Amino acid sequence: MRQKTSIATVCLSGDLEEKLAAIQRAGFDGIEIFEQDFIGSHLRPEDVRQMVADHGLEIKLFQPFRDFEGLPKGALRDRAFSRAKYKFEVMQRLGTDLMLICSSTHPEALGGISRMADDFAELGEMARNAEVRVGFEALAWGRFIYDHRDAWEVVRRANHPNIGLILDSFHSLVRKIETDSIRNIPPEKIFFVQLADAPVIEMDYLYHSRHFRNMPGEGDLDIACFMQAVQQTGYQGPLSLEIFNDQFRRSDTELVARDGYRALVHLMDEVNRLEDAPEASLLPEKVQIGHLEYIECVIRASDLAYYLEFFEQIGFGYLGRHKTKNVHILGQAGLNLLLNCEPSYLLAEEGREFGLMVSEIAFYVPDASAALKRSMMLGASQAHLQKSDTEVGFPALNGAGKTILRLIDANMDIWATDFDVIKRDDSQNETPLLSKIDHIAQTMSYDEMLSWTLFYTTLFEMKKTPLVDVIDPDGIIKSQVVHSLDNGVCLTLNGSDARHTRASDFITTSPGATVQHIAFATDDIFKIAGHLSGLDGAVLPQTANYYEDIQARFGLASEVLERLKAGNILYDEDEKGQFYHFYCHLEQTNMFFEFVQRIEGYKGFGAANAPFRLAAQRRLARRRNLSKAS
Ligand code: MG
Ligand code: MG
Repeated sequence: MRQKTSIATVCLSGDLEEKLAAIQRAGFDGIEIFEQDFIGSHLRPEDVRQMVADHGLEIKLFQPFRDFEGLPKGALRDRAFSRAKYKFEVMQRLGTDLMLICSSTHPEALGGISRMADDFAELGEMARNAEVRVGFEALAWGRFIYDHRDAWEVVRRANHPNIGLILDSFHSLVRKIETDSIRNIPPEKIFFVQLADAPVIEMDYLYHSRHFRNMPGEGDLDIACFMQAVQQTGYQGPLSLEIFNDQFRRSDTELVARDGYRALVHLMDEVNRLEDAPEASLLPEKVQIGHLEYIECVIRASDLAYYLEFFEQIGFGYLGRHKTKNVHILGQAGLNLLLNCEPSYLLAEEGREFGLMVSEIAFYVPDASAALKRSMMLGASQAHLQKSDTEVGFPALNGAGKTILRLIDANMDIWATDFDVIKRDDSQNETPLLSKIDHIAQTMSYDEMLSWTLFYTTLFEMKKTPLVDVIDPDGIIKSQVVHSLDNGVCLTLNGSDARHTRASDFITTSPGATVQHIAFATDDIFKIAGHLSGLDGAVLPQTANYYEDIQARFGLASEVLERLKAGNILYDEDEKGQFYHFYCHLEQTNMFFEFVQRIEGYKGFGAANAPFRLAAQRRLARRRNLSKAS
């Protein structure tokens, strides 16, 4: 049986009812009720209890109670006990039996494990009478107790059945406490487990915790290792998310709840597999991404001839059309591009509005039905595409924005039944101009970046590389790469908080499109640049200053420099190799194309050139807007 899942109400934005609705829809079993959510509500405890039950949820924990232990005998200590007594009554009315006490930060608290243990033993009696339990948690910034080993020692010495320990991955991992120290704690003494990840940043623990926690898998802490230790104790109680994050608190409630559930289910699956107990896992294994089979773009039917000509210039041959729909295949070197002008297509209207919009990205997976099952169990949703009786069906997932991800089973030939293929390009002897898709850049709001990174890395066998900042003339753009293990599918996710960066402008003008550019790899960048130089104003021009600068930086031979300049090609190097790239902007669409050539294992994406590319794109956008206006 799967362990119960829970989430603290403090993780989400909205009022209590909105939070409960989102938590229920995401799939959780229960909640930790954050005291302020309850105090701020006009509802009586009995009404809150009813509302929680009406959402099919349970209150697993009441939190937090602060500054309890170690107070000197007298008024302060008496007040702490009478506060606790009042909270126990509230808990009975709320219908929950577990309270979290976090370690004291009170300026008058005294140290001493025995003194604290005595306090908890006395509280345990009070709790027994009220038929509730109390769990003690070490805050990373507690005054005397800031290590779960010490909190456990207090609990052990209190030696009371109603007093136990609460573990929180953030507090333990951020202080780099050996997770091995968890393994020997008796499972019945662990009352509750809270999970949170965080990026590794050197800062004050309190500030780090209150603002930068994130979902397991979104940060840098080794939550899986922490959870393995918890599993090995035999703990079977709830696993609960307790995430304080400024971004989540202003984000869409549903999105954060869904991401939380996805992160938690994925973590449990990962731990079962690490523990070599995949049979305990309910999910099919992570989906291996195979060959990227096609990218589909929606275009206006009236633009078909224009795009056929453009794609021909970059080496795509016409391969055939759909038997019943106005959809065309172009291809080269195993790379397929679909141009969809079909008016009945789900995204036809968005495509017409946008000009050329990537609607689908399709890749092979070993087992499409298992992949679909895993995706749905992790909270993904299916896109509802109309299919005629004769067409082959294969899973379509809703991806970022309105982009659809298609999963093709390794045994399926999607072309044979649905398309009249007039020729495949493998009979051609000439070298194709393009060799593969190097990367696909998806642009989204900054708030969605963590969410889609989590989507790709939990459903699929994909890795992420560290987030980088790109300087746009109008603000910062954050860029996150996720890629399949062999780099066959590589996505760059870009987002920006600033209002007028290229990324933000793209989102405002896009009716749900996320693909801002497709980068094609070539073995002959100069040849492609030559083919496109005749396309009036399409290649993004670079400045003379740029070329002087790279000559100074890299000492390029003057004939190479002249060729770069002539093609408006950007250049970069890393310790391994060289990188050539340029950009092509067609008048018809806000989406653009990048052409890249990697030599000898260059790893990056030309980040050093991004500010110059963005500045040039800004100039181009202004010029085009001006000419449209005049
Ligand atoms: Mg906690
Ligand atoms: Mg790029």
